Amino acid sequence: MPEESKQKECSGGLRMTRDRVSADRKRIILNGRTVDVNQLVPIKYKWAWHFYLDACANHWMPTEVSMQRDIEQWKNPQAFTDDERHVIKRNLGFFSTAETLVGNNIVLSIYKMVDNPECRQYLLRQAFEEAIHVHTFQYIAESLSLDETEIFNMYRENKEIYEKDEFSMSCTDGIMDVTMDLTTTEGLQKFIENLIAFYVVTEGIFFYSGFVTMLSFGRQNRMPGVCEQIQYILRDESIHMNFGIQLINTIIEENPYCWTAEFKEYMIQRIKRAVELECAYAQECLPRGVLGLNATLLREYVQYIADRRLEKLNLPQQYKSINPFPWMSEVIDLKKEKNFFETRVTEYQTGGALEW
Ligand code: MN
Ligand code: FE
Repeated sequence: MPEESKQKECSGGLRMTRDRVSADRKRIILNGRTVDVNQLVPIKYKWAWHFYLDACANHWMPTEVSMQRDIEQWKNPQAFTDDERHVIKRNLGFFSTAETLVGNNIVLSIYKMVDNPECRQYLLRQAFEEAIHVHTFQYIAESLSLDETEIFNMYRENKEIYEKDEFSMSCTDGIMDVTMDLTTTEGLQKFIENLIAFYVVTEGIFFYSGFVTMLSFGRQNRMPGVCEQIQYILRDESIHMNFGIQLINTIIEENPYCWTAEFKEYMIQRIKRAVELECAYAQECLPRGVLGLNATLLREYVQYIADRRLEKLNLPQQYKSINPFPWMSEVIDLKKEKNFFETRVTEYQTGGALEW
């Protein structure tokens, strides 16, 4: 950018010009830190635009799902064992604040660093989806007449949830710093660490014991409303994670110098730490096992999905565990959705199966 126009943009934001934006000059991170109109076209990163379109085609609201059967079941003292009630409440507690934590990180951190307009278009959509997700847990807690303050305070009263949240939050802290400089290797690595902590770990690992457990109730036609909502959240989260991984890989492609052997090793260790936190959480949720699920099977599952995430970041697998819940892959495949639960299922427009 010529020095003169750079100055004008920095001081006033807009300027009149006949230079049209060309796609090949677009980059994910421009280090612009200027306010501009965020011109969407010409689109360079078509994947980002398609994730946005897919997300819109999947639009849903928690209040469209009937909670009637869930309420009847939850009120029936015979319908659940104490262990079953414990794991359901734990998962509602974890998700109820994990969703806002992810939303905060998008708005307060990621959006500021990612200059590209088509990626920002998706981030705006994702931020709204996180609001819908937290609305879901408020709606569930209210419908089931749960103690809302118990659910929404669980992250600071339960050690295993606290530690997962602390893992994610510690990565927001660093990049909230307004002086953070993405032109340095250190700054860029810090940002990539944040993206991995949120898209790969929080949305791609920390949500998954909860998904498996809650969907296991659904497979027995228990808590059908909650499970239908969890299915929609899982589908949204799969898009969030796939967008995030594509974003991370594109930033690395555009700035290969930051993806050093040392930094890769550090990220592998962070992901392994996250796997341990998730396994500790599963153990606390399922001290004795319910519905054929137990902490050992969940460990295998968490390790299996961690390997899938590592592969997508072009990092070596660490566990080589076998997926103990192959039915989970079917839930991700949208075409099979209708057969999965026999509840009212909203017709969605999107066709493509998500990458798992
Ligand atoms: Mn979410
Ligand atoms: Fe998400």
